Amino acid sequence: MPTDADIAWAAGLFEGEGCFFACDKYERKTGTTRRVTCAMLSTSDLDVLKRFQAIVGVGGFFQVKEHRKGTYKPLWRWQVQSHSGVEHVGELLRPWLGQRRTQKLDEVLATIATQNDPITCDYCGVEFVPLRKRGKRAFCSRICSARFSFGVKAPRYGNPPLAKELT
Ligand SMILES: [Zn+2]
Repeated sequence: MPTDADIAWAAGLFEGEGCFFACDKYERKTGTTRRVTCAMLSTSDLDVLKRFQAIVGVGGFFQVKEHRKGTYKPLWRWQVQSHSGVEHVGELLRPWLGQRRTQKLDEVLATIATQNDPITCDYCGVEFVPLRKRGKRAFCSRICSARFSFGVKAPRYGNPPLAKELT
């Protein structure tokens, strides 16, 4: 269990280097993009990032390359892409976060919660979470949209196109 000092340290780090935001996550299984709640923190020190992850208890990390004045500086990034994950980090760090980050946290959590209600694809009948709604019709993927407009006979309900068909 992290101590109050650990959590305060993590919040201080997040206040300087982290952010909450909404991002578009590609899901290979369905070939669709979904808007999800995200939190991210970047630092060039891997030990700092590992300590942060151990304290907050969620998310993964990976290395990114940042271009700076002709040289590549290795940068480590911790990231969480889920509503429950961001909620967890947010509630843990909230007592120590400044006004701007707290506002952003609430804003991101509120927006995504309402956007994530699933709707039914007008072509294949699969339930999906729309990235954004365009027009009257809702399609889970570009292929469903294309097949609908070309008048291709609809497949059995609950039979979404394969991800490989989308390329
Ligand atoms: Zn569909």
